Amino acid sequence: MGEYILYHAKIWTAENDAEWADAMWVSGDKILAVGAYQDMEDVASAHVRRIDMNGQMIIPSFVDCHVHITTVARSSWLLVLDKDSYADLDAMLADIGKYAKQHPVEEVPYIYATPCLQEWMEHADKTMLDRYVSDRPVLLCDEGFHSCLINSRMLELLEVDEHTPYDPTTSMNYARDAHNVPTGIVYEHRYEADLPKMYEKIHWCPPDQSDPAVIGPILKQFNDYGITAVLDGFTEGDETFEGLKRIEEKGELHMYYRGNSLFKKLSDLPDAIEQARRWNEKYQDSKMQTECIKLFLDGTNELGTAALMEPFVEDPDNYGVINMEEKELTEAMLQINEAKLDLQIHMVGDRAFHTAVNAVENAKKKLEQEGKKFTSRVTLLHCELTKPEDRRRAAELGIYINITPHWNGGIFGDAALKIVGKERFDTFYSFRDFIRYGAVLSCSSDIVSIEELDRANPFAAMQIAATRRDPQSCFEERQPASEKLPVRDMMLGFTIEGAKCMHMEKEIGSLAKGKKANFCVLNRNVFEVPVDKLGTTETVTVVFEGSPVKGGLPY
Ligand SMILES: [Zn+2]
Repeated sequence: MGEYILYHAKIWTAENDAEWADAMWVSGDKILAVGAYQDMEDVASAHVRRIDMNGQMIIPSFVDCHVHITTVARSSWLLVLDKDSYADLDAMLADIGKYAKQHPVEEVPYIYATPCLQEWMEHADKTMLDRYVSDRPVLLCDEGFHSCLINSRMLELLEVDEHTPYDPTTSMNYARDAHNVPTGIVYEHRYEADLPKMYEKIHWCPPDQSDPAVIGPILKQFNDYGITAVLDGFTEGDETFEGLKRIEEKGELHMYYRGNSLFKKLSDLPDAIEQARRWNEKYQDSKMQTECIKLFLDGTNELGTAALMEPFVEDPDNYGVINMEEKELTEAMLQINEAKLDLQIHMVGDRAFHTAVNAVENAKKKLEQEGKKFTSRVTLLHCELTKPEDRRRAAELGIYINITPHWNGGIFGDAALKIVGKERFDTFYSFRDFIRYGAVLSCSSDIVSIEELDRANPFAAMQIAATRRDPQSCFEERQPASEKLPVRDMMLGFTIEGAKCMHMEKEIGSLAKGKKANFCVLNRNVFEVPVDKLGTTETVTVVFEGSPVKGGLPY
């Protein structure tokens, strides 16, 4: 695009000290100036193109600093079912049968359907599925990805029968009947280890996520939403980078990708750090880099695997599960700091939050005593249930908070209610304290599969958190109503604050001199539209490094 000045625009810069401007001067991939058109007009030579924006709104392009973007790509071949539209399991299975009839085995050699209600799995067995599909393997996965139902053909291809060993010391197993015969229910992905045998026999395997044809359209959708930077929820492997590289070679990667190296326990951490180093050595370039480590500290409130400060309402000895206690977590943080990396921690329960805040405090204190500094950026993800006092401490300690605004309308229903009780349930998604105490509060989508792709749209997410209503579900306004979030704070969360979480705020996240020219032209002023209509806001043009990747300039 060369050099141009956009003028007569309504530019929201996301810069604190100069939040609004009417003109922006772009040269190549960078911003030369943002401010008053008159000042630019005085110094710009005649060859610089002037583009009249007719008063349209311009914002920095979005940052999604916690999204499982390549896991989404991996799910693109799945048969996605609308679980709420079926009266019972049989109706769902009949529909899978119908799909099989429409798509012969030569065309679809293996059907992986999802999601099924968890409670339906309790009474299911393979014969129910065999009735509808027996000519090829079929798997129906539950909504939480913890159990699935497979048919007899699949058991046969996996070479699993009554002689297959059963390991009572783990939850990963093929369920058995009284005669030790597999019922078709499989727990915790036990079948995955046997899949290669099956794929070989059916001469098929899932599409490679490094295939640009698979990942390309998903990246394109992110660009269309105005997103030009992502931090992966966790990077699944080399194939993620291979896929992105192939897209980049075609000149079609209009996005910064930050990898995230997962570790599960302290003893795994050196490997995760080494993995990040190896990815950088092999793949680092102007768009891709890995400088973050990921940890799951607890599970979910709905499944009862969150770590809680007070016990479950109906189980007074149960405080949920925490994967790492304070001392170990402190040690992990010190090692990550030493490696000059950042840390993202998944957490939903207040005990997980409390533990992480304590660990950051410990790590900082320890280093201070040694005359050193803790420079790692620690981002606490989700933070569904937190104690007010810990919110203040987190802000004071400079901990980064990341929220998933499209959850704030109660997307997960009330499954957590029976575990935490109404009093705690009605304090979920309380984030205004973080704003009040001045924490870095970033926003992200955390989507993991193709069926949720529309929820990666930041405008749709902001509408949900601004109203605490989810237009896709039938739930009432989510309590407490006083926790509706201001649009401006979420706009900051999806731009400059997200860029801080990605350690990229010097290059992206706001519109300022010297930064990358990454911005969106919108069809309206987002600060003037009623909040319950916010989700219908659209990007007219999305510009990445100075050039449009959606729409065009001028109009
Ligand atoms: Zn996640």
